[in-house]
Amino acid sequence: MARVRYCENCGARLPLKASARRRYCDDVCRSQAYRRRVASDRIWTLGMMLAEAEHLGDRRMIRLLTCPECGVITFAGAIHRIDMRYCSGKCRSRAYRRRAARRARIAAAA
Ligand SMILES: [Zn+2]
Ligand SMILES: [Zn+2]
Repeated sequence: MARVRYCENCGARLPLKASARRRYCDDVCRSQAYRRRVASDRIWTLGMMLAEAEHLGDRRMIRLLTCPECGVITFAGAIHRIDMRYCSGKCRSRAYRRRAARRARIAAAA
């Protein structure tokens, strides 16, 4: 009796007749799994870059790879658009409020 196996991407049960080498239920799952593997390779590379930047004290690179507000690693500068550099909407709005408050202080002092 064939062993029941599951898609490595979505966990759906593979047909019993599926060949022993088959790991995904369909092409969509196969390409999704491939993209995920590529993405995790990239994250690993970026993690190495960040470790090296911290070692060298490369502030610019560290800023590029982490949320400027809370320091959470986002890799935003490398994999997202630059306007995505905050880890969350919360950090983005916190930074925005801080900038607005600073502008208001400057305006009040003038
Ligand atoms: Zn699947
Ligand atoms: Zn953050």
